[in-house]
Amino acid sequence: MTTDVLSRAPATTATAVARLRTLLQGRVIAPNDAGYDEARTVFYGGIDRRPALIVRARDARDVSTVVSAASDGGLELAVRSGGHSIAGFGVSDGGIVLDLSRMKALDIDVERRRAWAETGLTAGEYTTAAGVHGLATGFGDTGSVGIGGITLGGGIGYLVRKHGLTIDDVLAAEIVTADAKLLYVDARRHPDLFWAIRGGGGNFGVVTRFKFRLHEVDRILGGTLILPATREIIASFAAAAEAAPEELSTIASVMKAPPLPALPTEAHGKLVIIARMVYAGDVGAGERAIAPFRRLAKPVADMVKPMRYAELYEPDAGRHPVASIHTMFVDTIDGAAAQTIIDHLHTSTAKMAAVEIRVLGGAMARVSADATAFAHRGSRIMVNIAAMYERPDEAVVHQSWADTVADALRQGDAGAYVGFLRDEGAVRVREAYPGATWERLVAIKNRYDPVNLFRLNHNIPPG
Ligand SMILES: Cc1cc2nc3c(=O)[nH]c(=O)nc-3n(C[C@H](O)[C@H](O)[C@H](O)COP(=O)(O)OP(=O)(O)OC[C@H]3O[C@@H](n4cnc5c(N)ncnc54)[C@H](O)[C@@H]3O)c2cc1C
Repeated sequence: MTTDVLSRAPATTATAVARLRTLLQGRVIAPNDAGYDEARTVFYGGIDRRPALIVRARDARDVSTVVSAASDGGLELAVRSGGHSIAGFGVSDGGIVLDLSRMKALDIDVERRRAWAETGLTAGEYTTAAGVHGLATGFGDTGSVGIGGITLGGGIGYLVRKHGLTIDDVLAAEIVTADAKLLYVDARRHPDLFWAIRGGGGNFGVVTRFKFRLHEVDRILGGTLILPATREIIASFAAAAEAAPEELSTIASVMKAPPLPALPTEAHGKLVIIARMVYAGDVGAGERAIAPFRRLAKPVADMVKPMRYAELYEPDAGRHPVASIHTMFVDTIDGAAAQTIIDHLHTSTAKMAAVEIRVLGGAMARVSADATAFAHRGSRIMVNIAAMYERPDEAVVHQSWADTVADALRQGDAGAYVGFLRDEGAVRVREAYPGATWERLVAIKNRYDPVNLFRLNHNIPPG
């Protein structure tokens, strides 16, 4: 397909845009069009980029046309599914945004427990639709995250210990590569590309849809347990989460209690553990698995109850602050690490500061480290240090705080999860893709994207 319709020369842009409009089913939004500002806005605040064009693709053919246009015009291409990239890679300055959010087809085969899902779906939309059949594929903790970005990075969520990463349930995908061709990839067809897109991010093309495995996950025991956060309770919580059956996955944030009506006023502003718990199995067994956590202290609030899995995802709250984040893996949260967390949380000047602890293991760890491009199968605990605030000009202070906490917590594991990386440079990307994983990814990049068209991401440049 020839779509040499865009070039960097401004004089030709208007004609080029008009021509592109005739080629596409989806909407093309240029800087002077109504809705441009809304269309260039991504999840986190403080990301203010002005693309030359935003295309809301309707189908794989549109995707292919946009890939050609960006390639022929030498323009930067931002690929966006749910827009939650912490690095802000979902929007380009001066380039084209390929917005997939109108591509939401979902075809569920209940009998075979398979689903073909277009990548404009969010985790919440997919989970709600699958939940009608008592089925689920594991994504992350937030419903508004796009299935495109989370799946390509790995996907660590409420089912990680029971069913593994999101990519462990990817059976096939359709992907438009840099030459604008749509490829079907699975374990037999283009197995190298199939390996790379399970953890290697958006480096290899635009995935238009994934084929997922679904699990029977219907009634669960889940919800939020809030405990006071002392050194002993934080360390004991982490130990209990490691000792728990694999059905139980936990995401525990240590932070000052927000002034929510659900919390007693005397707890407001005190350090607490806000733990989201999911026992994906028999509710009675779940009660037994959660009992040791409830015994750690008198809960500040206990909202863990039998529910349907899809109910875990709450509606998106709307406006989002600026975020400074540092992601890392550690081997243990012992008393000393817990004390470090407490001490540093008291020093943050951000509106909200949290240290999130996700104990891993279980099904995720049983897949070999070289089976997919996600290499951190042996990592025991993911820690995300986050500060949220309103003014982008405070970023230096809060990022420095998050990095200092990370330095203080650092143990032996030098890896990083790509899904929570900011735009932190090549060294951190290498931490996400260590050793042989990197070599293999570069070789596949050379083959499928030798000119690095897909570079607005945690980039694996051709070598
Ligand atoms: C509030 C919040 C909660 C989160 N919770 C979790 C969690 O629990 N577990 C977890 O694992 N991660 C989590 N993440 C991280 C999240 O998985 C990544 O930020 C992910 O990249 C977001 O995906 P997206 O599609 O929403 O973002 P986007 O900004 O749309 O995409 C991110 C990047 O992915 C690539 N991309 C997206 N779609 C495609 C596609 N179809 N084809 C090719 N490339 C594509 C592009 O390079 C793009 O820049 C969270 C992030 C946020 C902001």
